[in-house]
Amino acid sequence: MFSINSKVRELIMKFWQQKVGYFLVGITLFILLYAFKLVPIAIQPSIAKQSPVTHLATVSSSLAELSAAPAQLPPLPYADNALSKVIDAQTMKLHHDKHHATYVENLNDALKYYPDLQKRSVEELLRDQDRLPEKIRTPVRNNGGGHLNHTMFWQIMSPNGGGQPTGAIAAEINKTFGSFDAFKKQFNEAGSDRFGSGWVWLVRNGQGQLEIMTTPNQDSPIMNDSYPIMGNDVWEHAYYLKYQNRRAEYLNNWWNIVNWAEVNKRSLVSLQQQSSRG
Ligand code: MN
Repeated sequence: MFSINSKVRELIMKFWQQKVGYFLVGITLFILLYAFKLVPIAIQPSIAKQSPVTHLATVSSSLAELSAAPAQLPPLPYADNALSKVIDAQTMKLHHDKHHATYVENLNDALKYYPDLQKRSVEELLRDQDRLPEKIRTPVRNNGGGHLNHTMFWQIMSPNGGGQPTGAIAAEINKTFGSFDAFKKQFNEAGSDRFGSGWVWLVRNGQGQLEIMTTPNQDSPIMNDSYPIMGNDVWEHAYYLKYQNRRAEYLNNWWNIVNWAEVNKRSLVSLQQQSSRG
């Protein structure tokens, strides 16, 4: 009895000595790593608030694929009147609060009886339209496309936008189209020539090249294996209160609010998607 007890005690002692040993080694390692700044220290909230890091965080979350469980109307990233040098406050408000909201509502309505489809992203639903039940194919295409297109649209505009393109996209635009002016001209002409309602886009196509294209209605370039880097809405509802029927004038002025920082981020994502597909 006595000998078993002492053996057990010895084992327990050994166990604790080992634990304390590990603990001390751990603490020492941590102190060393900390001293050499190898351990990332959490950013203090007060610093994070002032730095552009928080801005980056919201922007990159906007680049994630859109949930359909349920689809949600994202808030405008600025006030209704923030872009009024180009788009008046009332048009912005109607466009976001009514038109975009309706696409979201109708998409959720179309998916109401399809819990499995709700688990997929809006992008997946649009890429894989042929496999949707025929009954909801058109409403998903129109309203899913509308939701996706407008979510991008609000993000690539900014009250601090406009001017010359910046970053990598500036160089790539020059390389592909000759100059920013030549690119703008081609983009505006494509937007003017789009008959009826639709969008004009700068996309990265399946071959990895920048390309200007237009789509009818709310069709998204992702349906054609192209990533939408930036796009302008040429539905009349995007501009009619201020420009009435003058689409060309709207297309021209629109460059004064383009958010080149966000366009650059989207271009980067398009390149990543390209390389992940091989
Ligand atoms: Mn619209």
